[in-house]
Amino acid sequence: MTWTFAIRDDDTSFYTRPEELEHLYARVMELCPVSLAVVPFHLPRKPGYPYGAEQVASGPGIPLEKNAELVAWLKLHLTTKKVAIMLHGYDHGYPGIPEFAVEESRELQEKVDRGRAYLESLLATEVRVFVPPHNRLGQAGLEAVVSRRLNICPVQSMRLKRQRRWYNFLRQRYFIMRHQVLPPGLMFFRSHWEIPAYSLTPMSNLHFLRRALQQQAALGGLFVLATHFWEAQARLVTGGETVKEALYRLVDEAQKLGGQFVSLNDLCPCIS
Ligand SMILES: [Zn+2]
Repeated sequence: MTWTFAIRDDDTSFYTRPEELEHLYARVMELCPVSLAVVPFHLPRKPGYPYGAEQVASGPGIPLEKNAELVAWLKLHLTTKKVAIMLHGYDHGYPGIPEFAVEESRELQEKVDRGRAYLESLLATEVRVFVPPHNRLGQAGLEAVVSRRLNICPVQSMRLKRQRRWYNFLRQRYFIMRHQVLPPGLMFFRSHWEIPAYSLTPMSNLHFLRRALQQQAALGGLFVLATHFWEAQARLVTGGETVKEALYRLVDEAQKLGGQFVSLNDLCPCIS
């Protein structure tokens, strides 16, 4: 039975060195394209400020192109389809809450337009998917993204207040109840598609992920693994493996189970 496997990796920005991505993905990219959620204008970070932490520095954001080495690396791997580019917010700011989690804002639509156009022109590629920073999307953020005909990659735990098609919602609930996994395939809402992802962080349980992957394989479904390159060396709290080892294990398992490896761009149609 055909089933699909994809990787989402968040937080590539001006601050990312190609070696950080290489370290985790050189081996994986031979098999599976890596869909990178990229921040086009990351806010300045304090020296030594870790990835993923709340931002405290103020703007202006630093354009991705200031990191020429990274841009060259991305372009190189885009030509061979080993990476795909998604939009990960605008500056990854955290003004009290994640930048796209606010309930009201007129700026967000403009940020989506500017961020997307910037990445598309700089990297000569097409952006079809939005990945919410900190996995949070408020009503204004949702409307901004959806009005721009972008698809969304949420994590399982993310709840959106949205105009949803009840059929999708009920189908999803029923499927989860019956099989204890996400439904196979994408979910189509009135204006966009959503691609449910399983997250791999130090808090994840590898046993649960392997079980979900095996179930999706058996059901002819979809398994999107969402992780961060900057957590590669961290150990899972419920096991001895590092995030990197867990990722390799899941990719190997997907290969053994005959998964079709795709990017999230390949999964989502262009609906603009
Ligand atoms: Zn992020």
